[in-house]
Amino acid sequence: MRKMFSFLILFCVVVYGYQPTADHDSSAQIIYDINLINSNDDLFHVSVSVNGLTDENDIYNLPATAPGTYEVMDFGRFMKSIKAYDGDGNELNVEHISTNRWEIEDVNKLAKLVYDIEDSFDSDAPGISVDPMGGTGIDSAFVVLNTFGVLGFFEGLQSNPIKLKVDYKSDWTIGTALNKGDDGFYYAATYDRLADSPFLIGNLTNASTKVNDIDVDVYLYSPDTSVTAGKVMKMANEVLQAAGKFMGYSPTDHYDFLFCFMSPEDYERNNLQSAGALEHSNSSLFVFPSRGRLSNRMRDDMAHEFMHILTPLNLHSNIIEPYNFEVPTASEHIWLYEGVTEWESHILQLRAGLITPEEYLHTISQELNVNDHFNQNISLTEMSKEVYTEEGRHQFFNFYNRGAVTAAMLDIRLLELSNGTRGLREVLLDLLKKYGKNKPFMDDKFFDILVDLTYPQIEEFIDDYIRGTKSLPYVDYMEKLGYRYISKRVSEDKRPSLGIGLGLNDKNQFFVREASDELLNDGVKINDVILKILGQEVNMTSAHKILGQILSMQVGDTCEVVVERNGKQVDIPAILHQRMDKHIFEDMGELTEEQKFLRDAWLRNL
Ligand SMILES: [Zn+2]
Repeated sequence: MRKMFSFLILFCVVVYGYQPTADHDSSAQIIYDINLINSNDDLFHVSVSVNGLTDENDIYNLPATAPGTYEVMDFGRFMKSIKAYDGDGNELNVEHISTNRWEIEDVNKLAKLVYDIEDSFDSDAPGISVDPMGGTGIDSAFVVLNTFGVLGFFEGLQSNPIKLKVDYKSDWTIGTALNKGDDGFYYAATYDRLADSPFLIGNLTNASTKVNDIDVDVYLYSPDTSVTAGKVMKMANEVLQAAGKFMGYSPTDHYDFLFCFMSPEDYERNNLQSAGALEHSNSSLFVFPSRGRLSNRMRDDMAHEFMHILTPLNLHSNIIEPYNFEVPTASEHIWLYEGVTEWESHILQLRAGLITPEEYLHTISQELNVNDHFNQNISLTEMSKEVYTEEGRHQFFNFYNRGAVTAAMLDIRLLELSNGTRGLREVLLDLLKKYGKNKPFMDDKFFDILVDLTYPQIEEFIDDYIRGTKSLPYVDYMEKLGYRYISKRVSEDKRPSLGIGLGLNDKNQFFVREASDELLNDGVKINDVILKILGQEVNMTSAHKILGQILSMQVGDTCEVVVERNGKQVDIPAILHQRMDKHIFEDMGELTEEQKFLRDAWLRNL
């Protein structure tokens, strides 16, 4: 039941506005003020000072969605009250015309918009619950502020420059990657930039390091004072340094990791159903329940988020520019933004000697195991295009699995074709020289660009494994490096397995997302809703305990599972079985000269 806890979702920015391109109306000035000093009422108090607005700017929009979230969140539903005033303090008429839109009468006279908006964490507004790393939260000790959840933009002025002031308690600390001027205001070149810059505010700890020429900060809130920014930095520093070596240069000058660990009680009280990170250009925001200790998995997640500095921040397509906060459109290349980034986050650790080849091979093995549970008949490019559909959302997690293994295979193919001189890392660095933050590639031309920059055979690789759905060539390719593939064998782990993987459905019920052959034989079916296991109701809190009980039982023992199927309750006596390992790679020991040569190149940043 390891899957039970994989409700942790790593969210990442895939597409966002990168720089202002549209000519902005330079005469219109927009200054936001968020007052958090009197937020005991659990509301963000916002005022927006403007002048120079014209009739075309008469709509104030709050985002329906935001980069990387793949959800329609409708932040407009959290608005509590809104008023508009002219320069003399006379009220102007404001009409709420749709969930996220307000129309302002005589907008050319508008001087100030004043409104209160509640946080998404504990809101009881109808609609889907917003994932905390993409949401907003006000607590007595901290504030999670995704700017797009509180601040909107006037129609036609999304590309205008923005000033922002945040008033907060004097003993609080603020963590954000947004630039602050000497005048105390934060500055963003466009609304997209503002939306790309979350804030974490409160009783935070802070720690800094330098990676190449990048100033890296960790800002952290934790109710458990033994978990500090210093500890996170200590745990992650060598991985971040390895990431710096992999990059080989400094694509940006600063980067902030923002961590909000909430107490399990607060997690439950707010009914938060997920945790994870949302990635931005110069920062990433992590929201997790506090467990009193840091998981090593956090290092991998931090490496992943940090490597996004390369893609998509400095290597991305033209497709969404600026970002459409109302109706998002996907790029074809999430395999590049997420799959390649995930591959990087592990191989950079191998190449810096932080993990052994065996540990790296175990990662590939795990990725292949997860991939087995996803749709094999949809290509990576189709998965990208479908990302905003229900099916696409369901498949998204596989970018971190099949996408990452695809990148690993592409690396080996490139090393082979270049005679050990130029792998995927080196090709990416060449692409980064050619393109950059302000120079996107054309979305539909990227594969041609990649083939031109490499070898004709890469076109075949793309057609088979990225645009196509051929099963990945890991058996042959890993053998080129001197690793033997074993499809399945009895695990050395003798603890019993129920062989179940659970997911959460729209009603927040656990359902059977995966099941072993043995469990299917016992009568469990995929999509069954789980009511009880071992006589206990399954929920976020009980899951840990139930797993512990199963692990203390024996292979062959009966584990009662009660499910709901087609409105009927079904009792299933499932038999705990021996664990099997699948998709294993082993060192072949005696290597040929070719294998030795290629493995040596594979183990290094060339
Ligand atoms: Zn990512």
